[in-house]
Amino acid sequence: MTPGDVLDVVVVGAGPAGSRTAQFLAAAGLDVAVLEEHREVGRPVACAGLLSNRVFQCLGEEIAVLNRASGARIHAPSGHVLDIDAGRPMAVIVDRAMFDQALARKAVDGGAIIGMERRVMDVRAKASGCVLQVRDMASAGTAREEVRSRVVVGADGPSSIVRGSLGIQRPRRKLTGFQIAFASSQSIDTDSVDLYAGHDIAPGFFAWVVPHGPHSGLVGLAQEPGGMSPKDRLERFMKGPTFRDSFPDVQTVATFAGTIPIGPLHRPVTDGAVLVGDAAAQAKAVSGGGVFPALVAAKHASDAIVAVLEKGEPTARALSAYPRAFDKEVGAELRKAARLRRSFRAMSDKMVNDLIEALDDPELMDLIVSQGDIEFPSRLVRALLRKSPRLVRLAGPLFRGLF
Ligand SMILES: Cc1cc2nc3c(=O)[nH]c(=O)nc-3n(C[C@H](O)[C@H](O)[C@H](O)COP(=O)(O)OP(=O)(O)OC[C@H]3O[C@@H](n4cnc5c(N)ncnc54)[C@H](O)[C@@H]3O)c2cc1C
Repeated sequence: MTPGDVLDVVVVGAGPAGSRTAQFLAAAGLDVAVLEEHREVGRPVACAGLLSNRVFQCLGEEIAVLNRASGARIHAPSGHVLDIDAGRPMAVIVDRAMFDQALARKAVDGGAIIGMERRVMDVRAKASGCVLQVRDMASAGTAREEVRSRVVVGADGPSSIVRGSLGIQRPRRKLTGFQIAFASSQSIDTDSVDLYAGHDIAPGFFAWVVPHGPHSGLVGLAQEPGGMSPKDRLERFMKGPTFRDSFPDVQTVATFAGTIPIGPLHRPVTDGAVLVGDAAAQAKAVSGGGVFPALVAAKHASDAIVAVLEKGEPTARALSAYPRAFDKEVGAELRKAARLRRSFRAMSDKMVNDLIEALDDPELMDLIVSQGDIEFPSRLVRALLRKSPRLVRLAGPLFRGLF
């Protein structure tokens, strides 16, 4: 990047969405630079690192794997535990910082440039060209530069500066999360993740424990904003018997805060720019999982940009091939997931208890194991409602209109 150059594409943010988009664009022969505000890719971490097998099908290989989980224990507010065991790995747990670093390396190997410690402060985008104001964080933030490109990709996470600068609609809702990486002197079960529901534990969402290994893991929760902070709520949860009985001796190794935007945005494009990943609120509302949708967005956004730049100017209209393709593959599911979470949010703890107890039925458990897909939760909900009149009685009115 030398002053005066006009790059084909500048990608803001070296998370999974940004690095993957940059990799595809560079592979198509475009001049691509990724600007990342931090000194190290992947840090600070805002993720439990729980990924579906689909992520690795997408990438064509497994990277940064710490552990594999074949089951989940779902803890109802009453204490009833639904113990799901698929008998085969259903999810992969990764070291998220290493995962992001591996994706960034692939982008660089493919020909993209990464500018570290470059914080984008402002973006002006038109179909005729884009200008980014960038602060060099290595110089204590005093040095500034102007970077020009034909297209800007906003892959800058939940509080996207690109989205804000370009006046693109903000996500309507967000969840706030907090996590603690812990070491345990006693060995923990590495085969299952634990999920805890309850308005007191995590209003509007849930708490989790993800095992990284026999003596380490992550405990966290996400919740609707407002009221007690997620940090205070998590600390209270960790002092309570539900957590203490299973994890009696844990020491905090690190803490992480983060936001999960819920959407997805209907129009993550404007003249000269597209948003991908959390910047476009593409995380799943029922699980907070955003890596798989971010990788899908990277593919469709880069396809659209390559096609548009070959022909002419990147107008919003021309770039709209991206959200159309994304919606077809996962966007429609993300909208269903947002409606599912709204229904879940409206349920009392008593309803959640009844629902979890109703699911504790061999036939329904078989269905969960055979048809459960973390990335497409609505498919399982539909199958369960078809199978069980009791579930329809309990939850039917809430889920009406969903399918
Ligand atoms: C508590 C929590 C737990 C989660 N657990 C999971 C999970 O288990 N599985 C899962 O799939 N998803 C999980 N997620 C969601 C997942 O982490 C995100 O969906 C995913 O990181 C989105 O990737 P991204 O590339 O869009 O954004 P990010 O990973 O947020 O990357 C954005 C990048 O942009 C950079 N950046 C931001 N602003 C600027 C700027 N102005 N200039 C330059 N660079 C900038 C940031 O430093 C960052 O590197 C979790 C989220 C939270 C909060």
